[in-house]
Amino acid sequence: MDNNDIYTEIKNLAPQIAYFSMEIGLRVDLPTYSGGLGVLAGDTIKAAADHELAYVAVTLLYREGYFQQHLEDNGQQVEQPVKWNPTDLLIELDQITVTVEIGTKQVALRPWLYVVEGCDGGQVPVFFLDSDLPENGPEERKLTAQLYGGDQRNRLSQEIILGIGGLRLLSALEIRNIVNFHLNEGHAALLTLELLKRYRRNIEETWDPNQVWNYERVRKQCVFTTHTPVPAGHDRFDYHLVEELLGAYIPIDVLKRFAGPNDLNLTTLALNLSRHTNAVSKCHRDVSALMFPGYDIKAVTNGVHSASWTNAEFQELFDRYLPGWRRDNFLLRNAMMIPDEEIFSAHQSAKQRLFDYINKKTSVKLDPKILTIGFARRATPYKRATLLFSDPKRLRHITEHYGPLQLVLAGKAHPHDEPGKKLIRDIFSTREKLSDLIKIVYLENYDMELGKLITGGVDLWLNTPTRPLEASGTSGMKAAHNGVPNFSILDGWWIEGWIENKTGWAIGPLPTGPLVDEASNQLDANDLYEKLEKDIIPTYYHNRPTWVEIMRQAISFNASFFNTYRMLMEYYMNIYSFDPTTRVKIKTQKQ
Ligand SMILES: *Cc1c(COP(=O)(O)O)cnc(C)c1O
Repeated sequence: MDNNDIYTEIKNLAPQIAYFSMEIGLRVDLPTYSGGLGVLAGDTIKAAADHELAYVAVTLLYREGYFQQHLEDNGQQVEQPVKWNPTDLLIELDQITVTVEIGTKQVALRPWLYVVEGCDGGQVPVFFLDSDLPENGPEERKLTAQLYGGDQRNRLSQEIILGIGGLRLLSALEIRNIVNFHLNEGHAALLTLELLKRYRRNIEETWDPNQVWNYERVRKQCVFTTHTPVPAGHDRFDYHLVEELLGAYIPIDVLKRFAGPNDLNLTTLALNLSRHTNAVSKCHRDVSALMFPGYDIKAVTNGVHSASWTNAEFQELFDRYLPGWRRDNFLLRNAMMIPDEEIFSAHQSAKQRLFDYINKKTSVKLDPKILTIGFARRATPYKRATLLFSDPKRLRHITEHYGPLQLVLAGKAHPHDEPGKKLIRDIFSTREKLSDLIKIVYLENYDMELGKLITGGVDLWLNTPTRPLEASGTSGMKAAHNGVPNFSILDGWWIEGWIENKTGWAIGPLPTGPLVDEASNQLDANDLYEKLEKDIIPTYYHNRPTWVEIMRQAISFNASFFNTYRMLMEYYMNIYSFDPTTRVKIKTQKQ
């Protein structure tokens, strides 16, 4: 296609919402995501395309991807760069170059385009910014090579590219009618600085030095989604580094005013320069409100893109019984009408597909008649992947006296997360100790494809984070779309989706406040084992109709709500604001 046409077509899409995210996960062979944040971004964009919304998204092009995980025999993680070729999937927009100043360097950036196609012909363009251009020096060329791979300097440089470069890209593409900039996590917060500079008034216009920076106008356009319930999870930069990289761009005293006096805190910057801030579940909203006193924080609970996370077997069922469900995910509530045998046999074939994959990869042969528990997420201490194994004797006793179990696990540890890597080794050694009784499989390289296979192929989805550190979590929503009930700590989305013995089961009590509940390990483990003994295992083996009823209710109560259709609707109704200046109240006559 002639590239000139592309530029006109992009402009003609006339996007109104510009979504900025450090990572976006659209498909497994586009390795520009690490986990939940990126998958959420990808699912959001897919839903926008399904509903033909005027949306556009900006992220970076990571030529080395996140990383490919290999596990040695003792569970030691080895990281390898992902090999992929951007030209296979993306269109290089070679008529456009934007430049950002990073310290003394002018860094040239080239956008690559991927167009997300919705279920009814809607399209959302996604731009990937790439610094690997011949006009840049060798160091600058590497700036966008890896996602979350570098040091503070690299991270800040990437955030300059995303926020400032991203905004300049939209201008270069003549996309001029953005009503809201959506900052998906603080990483994108530097775009507010570019807006501040754009809307800066001349002193002659105001004669008041306090009025020069028109931050009110910036705030009207920006909305911010925060994802992290721990202070350490928020990006902060020493002002020495900031001075070095951004000192020529904006006066540091302006930064200090909006981003904090001691270090550049991107969350603070985003909070101060956004009209709305939202957390990603109701529980996370309460935690965030305590973390950031003085800010009005709303909640929009995350969702998943239903059509992407429903396995083929259930897609076929939904197409037959709930036509239209791909666009209108609310139709999934009528899963209540799908007969028992159909639900169970669709699940058993998804289970068999997972077991075939496991057999191919590991030579382990799992038994499709045995209750199979799944657990897959980033290997990091607060996710407590080893809680289930905290009392191996009890686990042994349970399988001998109540009924057999099989376990399927997966998850990458961040390359710098040593305690996370140790967790994987610990699971490997437990696997040896229990091998005569319980088959435990740890699959390598958890990615979107494996995520879909595991969430749909196990019988029960386990989640054991330390309260209240799971902002939302989304893999349990994927499980629900495949009729797989959740068995989880009451945190994040599960507090909203949980109906005991109806959609799944809780582990432990509700969170009591924002404090990390360190003492809960033993109590939670005990509750986990008790629920397995009293409710879960007996129902699975001795009360099949009730088990299938719970599977069905997971779809009709959980999947019909925890999807990106409902989520985007909430963003459009409660967060985005299309004409904030005209919001005046009508005076009632009697006043
Ligand atoms: C869905 C998904 C996640 C996020 O799941 P959580 O429940 O938030 O841990 C992470 N990684 C991959 C590959 C996924 O598909």
